[in-house]
Amino acid sequence: MRDTDSTIYDDLGVPRVINAAGTKTRIGGSLIRPAAMEAMARAAEDFARISDLQARASELIQDVTGAEAGYIASGAAACMTLGVAACIAGTNLGVMNRLPATPGVSDEVVMPRTHRNGYDHAIRAAGATIIDIGNNDNKLGTGSKNTELWELADAIDEDTAGVAYMQKHDSQPPLADVVEIAHEEGVPVLVDAAAELPPKANLTKFIEQGADLVVFSGGKAIRGPQSTGILAGRRDLIESAAMQHLDMHVAEEVWDPPSELIDLSRFDGVPRQGIGRGTKVGKEELVGIIRALELFLDEDTEALLADWQSKAEHIADRLSDAAGYETSIQAAGKTNAAATVWVTVDRPIAGCDAETLVRDLRNENPRIFVGPDHIDTGEFTVNPMCLSDEQVEYVTDRLLAYHD
Ligand SMILES: *Cc1c(COP(=O)(O)O)cnc(C)c1O
Repeated sequence: MRDTDSTIYDDLGVPRVINAAGTKTRIGGSLIRPAAMEAMARAAEDFARISDLQARASELIQDVTGAEAGYIASGAAACMTLGVAACIAGTNLGVMNRLPATPGVSDEVVMPRTHRNGYDHAIRAAGATIIDIGNNDNKLGTGSKNTELWELADAIDEDTAGVAYMQKHDSQPPLADVVEIAHEEGVPVLVDAAAELPPKANLTKFIEQGADLVVFSGGKAIRGPQSTGILAGRRDLIESAAMQHLDMHVAEEVWDPPSELIDLSRFDGVPRQGIGRGTKVGKEELVGIIRALELFLDEDTEALLADWQSKAEHIADRLSDAAGYETSIQAAGKTNAAATVWVTVDRPIAGCDAETLVRDLRNENPRIFVGPDHIDTGEFTVNPMCLSDEQVEYVTDRLLAYHD
């Protein structure tokens, strides 16, 4: 850690953060790859047509995901909104123009109830109404399945624009089954795989399983700009997304977007600024995500996973010296891409509870963010994904000092 060096945040009088929580947007996501940053600086020196850059990004996304086309918006959440807007509007300019109002059009997105999460606002932002199906039997121990496939088939009707699927390591029903039913009923499936990298194999996996659209965050493990997300999928849906995202103050007579991205013969004219216009990405971000994605592909994931694992073991090992902390390690690929240390705080022995500890660490300078998702059961987590070797020691030192 650059303890003594001053960072740009110090210059601005803003406390910097030691990130022991993983790739969280609220503390800056991940650190952009230096070579991607360099590419962005070069992008800032000259102009390029955004639709040309989008077509170039599409080509790369096709290569790495196996999808027919791809697109970049300002985050995975933005890509979900765009993807749903594409499912609702297709090539219909009037519908594009009215979104998020949806009079007279199919605007329902069917989703297993257990897949509902905070990001479903991104689905609703396009004008969709979420219809949730199934229940929570399996989690509660009251049944073997949360969602039956017949419930999915039953919920899809003429009002359905698509099916949304939240991809996690244990998502049920299996995506391939959901796709099969949705396609039998003639509607597309949108997969939220924002945080499901690594493994790199996931770039192609959901497309192979038949998903029509898949979103990945550009600012998590890919380590591109925080304000990027990748939408990969069917050419016609990506085309509709582009029409609803690109700057549309164009003169129709001379508007000539790249034909790989938009086939103008499929449209009756030029739409107005669309629902995605507020989630624009600049030339620098487009160049940055293209470069970052190329570098992500070249990265030795096994070495990275092994590094995170050894950092997690080291942290757990050091913390286990403190009587009030009980540690365990959750393997990579469960709720987090990296091996993660779970720490249970034994309040009487530690002299503090998890909630106070998490809050106090955030108020140090630099702020330390550990994972807060389980403070209600007296636990916090330490995710090594965004920690340098020095920061691993620093965070562990602070946790031990807090305990004493
Ligand atoms: C992070 C995340 C998002 C949002 O990604 P952004 O790129 O920050 O917009 C959406 N869904 C899930 C499951 C995520 O983990």
